[in-house]
This record gives sequence, C-alpha cells and structure tokens, in this order.
Amino acid sequence: MLQSLMMQMPLLISSLIEHADRHHGDSEIVSRRVEGDIHRTTYHELHRRSRRLANALAELGIDQGDRVATVAWNGYRHMELYYAVSGAGSVLHTINPRLLAEQIAWIVNHAEDRAVFFDLTFLPVIQSIAPLCKTVRHWVALADRDRMPVATMEGANGVLCYEDLISAQTDQFTWPEFDENAASSLCYTSGTTGHPKGVLYGHRSTILHTLASALPDALNLSARDVILPVVPMFHVNAWGLPYIAAMVGAKLVFPGPFLDGKSLHELLESEKVTFSAGVPTVWQSLLTYTEANNLKFSTMNRTVIGGSACPPAMIQLFQQKYGVQVLHAWGMTEMSPLGTACTFKHKHAAWSPAERAPVQSKQGRALYGVDMKIVDDDGVDLPWDGIAFGNLLVRGPWVVRDYYKSGEGSPLVDDKQNKQWFPTGDVSNIDADGYMQITDRSKDVIKSGGEWISSIEIENIAVSHPAVAMAACIAAAHPKWDERPLLVVVKKPGASVTRDDVLAHYAGKVARWQVPDDVVFVEALPLGATGKILKTKLREQFRVHRLPGA
Ligand code: ADP
Repeated sequence: MLQSLMMQMPLLISSLIEHADRHHGDSEIVSRRVEGDIHRTTYHELHRRSRRLANALAELGIDQGDRVATVAWNGYRHMELYYAVSGAGSVLHTINPRLLAEQIAWIVNHAEDRAVFFDLTFLPVIQSIAPLCKTVRHWVALADRDRMPVATMEGANGVLCYEDLISAQTDQFTWPEFDENAASSLCYTSGTTGHPKGVLYGHRSTILHTLASALPDALNLSARDVILPVVPMFHVNAWGLPYIAAMVGAKLVFPGPFLDGKSLHELLESEKVTFSAGVPTVWQSLLTYTEANNLKFSTMNRTVIGGSACPPAMIQLFQQKYGVQVLHAWGMTEMSPLGTACTFKHKHAAWSPAERAPVQSKQGRALYGVDMKIVDDDGVDLPWDGIAFGNLLVRGPWVVRDYYKSGEGSPLVDDKQNKQWFPTGDVSNIDADGYMQITDRSKDVIKSGGEWISSIEIENIAVSHPAVAMAACIAAAHPKWDERPLLVVVKKPGASVTRDDVLAHYAGKVARWQVPDDVVFVEALPLGATGKILKTKLREQFRVHRLPGA
C-alpha cells in the first residue's frame, strides 16, 4: 500500500490547552470555589499553572502511565489536573465522591493510584479511606496554605498543599510527545451490580471524541459560547466539555459544589452562560426554582440533557416558556461518553412544532465515528423502521474495548462479518432517518405476560401531569402477568393529586394494558452517584408491594 506523505502528529491532550492558550489566551475560566467565592482565570494562566503542576508531579515521582486520582468538584484546579496529569503522560483518574467510602477505597486500590488530589469538602472521606489505600504516596488538598486542614491522616505522611506545590515550581515545561494511543484518563462506572469497572480512555480517543462532539449536529460549541458544565468532572470527563471548551476557545463557568436551583440560576445569569449540560434530575430542581420564583434565563439558549431519558414535558417547558433549546443526547461512560445527539435535519424545518416534538424526544442520530445497530436476542440485525426494538450495539474509536484489569475477558461481541461491537445494555429502536430512541435499559424493561412495557414511556407521561415533579416506573411482581408496572411519584411542592388522577392521565396515551397497576407517592426518589434515579433501590423497596387485584 502507498503510504501518505502527510505529517504524523500524535493526537495529544496537551495540544488542546496549547491551542487554547495561543488562540484564546484571554478567554475566561470562572469557578465558584468550595470556599464560596468566585475565582477568575484565563486559558493563558491555566496553561501556565498546568505546566507548574506538571513539574510538581515529576518532583513527586509520578511517572508516565502512573494513575493520579481526583476527588473534586468542577473548578479550575480540577481542570489544571486534567491537563497537567494527562499532558505529562500520566493517567487522570477521576473518582465520584458520592460513592460509598468502601467503594472509593476499592477503586483507588484497583487503579493503584499514586497520588490523590481532593477538595476540602471531601477531607472526612479521604481520612477514612487513607489507611486502606496502599499504593497512594501523596494526598494533596486543593487549597491555599491558609485553608489547609490541621488534621493528620492515619496511613499517610501528611497532607500536601496544592498551592504550595504549584508555587514552588517554574512554568518552564515542554509537554512530552508520545504515542497517541497512550492512556490519558480513567473513570469507573457506577457499578449498580458487582464491582465498578474501569474505562481507560486514550489521548487519541479523547481528541477524536472532542472533535466530533463540538460539531454543529452534536453539541454545536464555539468561541462565542459560555459553557457551564453541571455534569461533574468526576463523571466521564464532564461529558468532554473541559476538552471541547479548550478546543473551541469557549469561556467556561464551573459551579463547584453549589448545584441547587438558586446557585445555578445566579451563576447562569451573572456569567452570561449560553450553554449548559446536565442530567434531568438537576434540571428538575433548577426548573422548580425558576417556576416558583418566576425567573427567566436571559442568556442561556441551549442545554444538553442526557444521562437518562429527558421527559418531553421538560423539553417543552425549556423551549416554549424559557426559550432554551434542548439538545437531547445519549452516551455512556464506555463511550467517552457521546454516542447520539438529537438535532434536526433539513426536512424538519418544514414540519410543525407538533410534528417535530416526537423527533426531539428521541435520543438522536449517531455522531460520525459511532456505528450503531439493534439486534434481537440471537444477534440478528433488526430493521430501522422506528418500531422494531432490540439490544443496542455500538462500535467506534472512542468506545471501550476492554475494562481496565477486569480479568473477565472482553465485553465485546462479534457479528457475522467478524466486526466487534459493544453491547450497551440499552433497548432501543432506530427509525429510517437514523434517529435512535431508547425504550429502556434491558434490566429496567417491564415484562408483562410476555409483552414489553417501556418504563421510560410510562414515566414521560407521568411527568407531563402538571402536579408530578418526578416519576419512576418499575416492575412489580404479579401472579398472573409475572410483572406489572408500578409508578412511584414525587408530587410538585404544594400540589395535590390522587392515584386515580395520575392513572386517568394515561387515557388515550398508551394501550390499556400498559397503564400502571398502581401509583405510590413518595417524598423523594433514591438517586445514584451520578444523579440518576436508582431503580435497583426502588425495586428492593417495593419488592413486597401488593398490586390492586393481584
Ligand atoms: P452508569 O449510569 O452505569 O454510571 P453511564 O452514566 O455511563 O453509566 O450511563 C449510561 C446509560 O445511561 C446508558 O446506557 C443509558 O441507559 C442511560 N442514558 C444515557 N443517556 C440517556 C438518554 N438521553 N436517554 C435515556 N437513557 C440514557
């Protein structure tokens, strides 16, 4: 084969921050810090401090390939770690602080982290895990000297101060060049069953994901945007936004630990945010706040919602009342995470809003770089007709090939052409235009007398009732039908609604046999570490629930 004569330049994460510094050096990065104050910096300054940090890492004896963990909120120091650790050739291991302490210790040991950088909020959990973490040589608090904790830590030589580490170093540092397939970062899935599994991203996979995610039919980001990632930097790299923002030169706004409706609204307004990203439960609390206080968004014009299905009622409220365009997107930790985004095609311009609404509630079209298909239980391809539904499989350069040190063998499955696919665990249909719609996670599907009921569809209808804030539909055991849908509902503050009102709301929207058998009202739904409704917990809670007539 004739080789090309184009330059070979490895796709490395350091190139993103170098580009941002050179071309968007004065673009701002604004953070609400753990301390509560607002901190302002620029790409230029962040790059400088990242280089100092890279020198500090070298002095701490962190080698290329070593894992460096973070237990931190969204903020500029976390972003410096993103660039310094990966840029130097080490692996940034972002840890979800909402996991149980034992799970965090298990993850640190499994990853064999050499150093752990943490926000002061997490000092208690760090103190409790330190004696269990055998590979960690350095514990570093993301703080100024005058805020350093006096606490000592069992099993550790003491806690280092991040700002001391940085200020002791020069900013002279040249990012090393290495193989673009080298590992760059590591994120463990929440592990609702069994131990968490590590997804080890690479420089090449990250850069390709960044390029594809910024495109107009994906997140559509540019140097004219002000991005506020509510989605945490400890979960799948905040959906790639710290990389995308640097690539396009957008201003970044980090909310720190302040994720309540009031704090978010204030920050969105004061920093003139144009674009935000988060899971539906976060937006639910923001919208409850704006509704109750009769507030508007004066600059935010787009928001990407994903992580779990965005109810059409939320899409309509954002768009019609607030003028905020919703981008419904789907992805997974195993996919870096973006797989599909729901944007319109040319032909949809002529459609009425009522015709467009059902398209927009789908999870969307595959990004270039993500190949997807649906298959039945025997692995046979299903048609793209918007009706047939089956197991969703994906492949592509930013899709996981194997879990880190899992010892369980590859998760991939082969098809008849010997192509390898990652089974997502999602059940979906795909229509003739390529729009994919998730009907359920395979473990959440309700199987009633051999027929499948989509819990997402039942939930979407429930939350379109004006008195319902949140809803989850789970399978309850039934002597005749095996499983029947049970709806668990959180009412809106001050609203009054009965079981019969909710059930009457299903009339004409689904077949009679798909209507839930019962509705129970609860104060709150159990949320997992990434803000998603924990259906496993709900199923446990309502295992002995007796359905009417059962
Ligand atoms: P976990 O929840 O296990 O930590 P992820 O955060 O990687 O893992 O979640 C991936 C899963 O979240 C997907 O497989 C899918 O079930 C669900 N998901 C993500 N985005 C959407 C969406 N827009 N609509 C429905 N489900 C979604």
